[in-house]
Amino acid sequence: MNEVIAPEEVAQDLNPVIEKMALNEHEQVVFCHDKASGLKAIIAIHNTTLGPALGGTRMWNYKNETEALNDVLRLSRGMTFKASISGLNLGGGKAVIIGDSYTQKSEALFRRFGKFVDSLGGKYITAEDVGISPKDMEYVNMETNHVSGLPITLGGSGDPSPVTAYGVYMGMKAAAKEQFGKDSLEGLKVTVQGVGHVGETLVKHLTEEGAKVTISDINKERVQEVAKKYGTEVVEGDAIYDVDMDIYAPCALGATVNNDTIARLKCSIIAGAANNQLLDEKEHGMLLKNRDVLYAPDFLINAGGLINVYREVEGISQERAMELTENIYNTTLDIFKKAKTDDITTHQAALALAESRIASIAELKTRR
Ligand code: NAD
Repeated sequence: MNEVIAPEEVAQDLNPVIEKMALNEHEQVVFCHDKASGLKAIIAIHNTTLGPALGGTRMWNYKNETEALNDVLRLSRGMTFKASISGLNLGGGKAVIIGDSYTQKSEALFRRFGKFVDSLGGKYITAEDVGISPKDMEYVNMETNHVSGLPITLGGSGDPSPVTAYGVYMGMKAAAKEQFGKDSLEGLKVTVQGVGHVGETLVKHLTEEGAKVTISDINKERVQEVAKKYGTEVVEGDAIYDVDMDIYAPCALGATVNNDTIARLKCSIIAGAANNQLLDEKEHGMLLKNRDVLYAPDFLINAGGLINVYREVEGISQERAMELTENIYNTTLDIFKKAKTDDITTHQAALALAESRIASIAELKTRR
């Protein structure tokens, strides 16, 4: 038996957690621990006004619990706005499993995690995210039905990435329409950073339309393979930020739009799939606005995958999911218009739209 901790000490440790929850108005944060399987996880439910909180589970070797907590709080908040702006009846949630996804996975760990998800009674619906494979989700699914994005063979909606890529493509076309007066990408110079599941399909759409595409990826084999398949140029490492381009499409990591890169980027548009592209939403959103670089908000244009997963929750058809994803084009144009009219950044305009839908539905729910 471990040493018992004094209640005052527990309260002291909890205070910063409660403060962080309060900062962005998270509804519930669940800390999961299981000694036998080695599971350490956090489930964060940000907002369930519109529906159950849906968001993937990420397995990552976080330096410590604080880093994991910060990540899950930030990601779950983003899911609320992504669902809202896409018109879905879903709330925002996310889970993180603290551990090495190469060495610390086991059936018991994922089944135990599944039991924790199940204990929330459907308030949180999980899915795959970074570090998690379909096989892992199969184990989670053995203990709970509150799992989405499963392979088609298991009755799910399959890989969401092609739908995400299509939505990003729609958002990019809307940005071209706003910035250059026509939505054709033919002849435009587009740089895609990261040609994984989403990036490769985006490159396919772009090259089919006649854009001049340059790609980068830290995976050398993959970048050569994709370049050969679609006839693109390749750039290595950080040199991507100095390429002569019209559009920068971050499809690898978050936070690549920051003081250093904004000073270097020569593009007129930023539109990509990565989550949390702006290192600082306010500061870097404003810097882009001042430089007349049009930023297509990430959580708006990368929502195709979530829309696809929504098929499993609401039972909508694949055709309807594609229609909703195509509509990202119109919503993106609306956001640009609002940003101009209100003289705010495009990120602020997107947030305002997402928040206003949540507020109006919350008000509606108070009525009979
Ligand atoms: P992925 O892991 O399949 O692809 C990411 C690619 O980026 C990999 O090929 C990787 O080698 C490369 N990469 C990593 N670091 C890099 C760097 N510094 N420079 C260049 N390349 C680098 O992931 P994905 O599913 O294609 O998702 C791409 C991004 O979009 C992620 O940020 C993800 O969170 C986001 N996203 C994905 C979906 C989806 O449906 N898959 C939905 C919404 C958002």
